[in-house]
Amino acid sequence: MQRRLALRTAAALTLALAAAASLAQQPVLNLYSARHYHTDEALYEGFTRATGIRINRIDGDDNGILSRLKSEGAASPADVVLLVDAARLWRAEVDGLFQPVKSELLAARIPAQLRGKDEGQGAQWYGFSTRARVVVYDKTKVQRTDVDTYQELADPKNKGKLCTRSGSHPYNVSLFGSMLEQLGPEKTEAWMAGLVANMARAPKGGDTDQIRAVASGECQIAVANSYYLARLMRSDKPEDKAVVDKVAVVFPDQSGIGTHVNISGAGVARHSKNREAAVRFLEYLASDSAQAYFADGNNEWPVAKGIKISNPALESMSGGSFKSETIPVSIVGMNQVKVQQMLDRVGYK
Ligand code: FE
Repeated sequence: MQRRLALRTAAALTLALAAAASLAQQPVLNLYSARHYHTDEALYEGFTRATGIRINRIDGDDNGILSRLKSEGAASPADVVLLVDAARLWRAEVDGLFQPVKSELLAARIPAQLRGKDEGQGAQWYGFSTRARVVVYDKTKVQRTDVDTYQELADPKNKGKLCTRSGSHPYNVSLFGSMLEQLGPEKTEAWMAGLVANMARAPKGGDTDQIRAVASGECQIAVANSYYLARLMRSDKPEDKAVVDKVAVVFPDQSGIGTHVNISGAGVARHSKNREAAVRFLEYLASDSAQAYFADGNNEWPVAKGIKISNPALESMSGGSFKSETIPVSIVGMNQVKVQQMLDRVGYK
């Protein structure tokens, strides 16, 4: 009896060891990711199912990931670097943290203005999803026509009404970098000074906090990335529903150059020892299923054409579609140094 039990235990142990060994042999892709969305798990599982390659994800914020890559240098185990802002992607490119990737599939599916520098060997990075920087306002106190351009946010008619997160947060730096491209340095700096003059309170918190501050009456106008609002719209929590009931959203500059969009994008790490799998992962992110997942799972917009999405929050907030700016995101990123100096001069904390 005892002997049989021992045999069975030994058999079970052998099986467990075999499973562990096969897990160890399974190819692994090291992904350094600044995407801070729990829904991404399903996105990565899709890749593992399709390729058998397991993803070992190292999470951090954009800054943390960039400094980690720099300090690791050639010894870095990173295969793919996934960031959430144009300014950061540009910074990583300039710091030489990517290697170029030439892929017919990526070239066909990712619009040219959403790619990093290409010197003939392929782009340094590719944008895989977009998010709009929208204006959220108190629908009982603010007229939509008073906030339907970014420039108007700095108009004296909106004095004491505006809430934003820190001016130097990458999402704002990219918006200001886009304005700099359109308006030139003088008008942009004057506009930024106007934003500071219109603040209801000093910048603090994240984008969701700004939306909540509009609902609570602390301010009347907020600037936020579209997916934060969509997340509140899809929430079942009564407190989130109450917030959504009080606010309205506008996609600025629809009759002008279009709403500012930022991207989440990725490239193959400079010192990847696993380039083939890394390129496969980028191509996977451009696939129909992954592109739809960015929308349905995380409330972003796909970048590839003709993707069928099913997300009522995105549908209702944009009326199905909207006009987005077409300034190359790499130029927006490149403007960040000038923007930072302007922020300091106008005192936008
Ligand atoms: Fe975010």
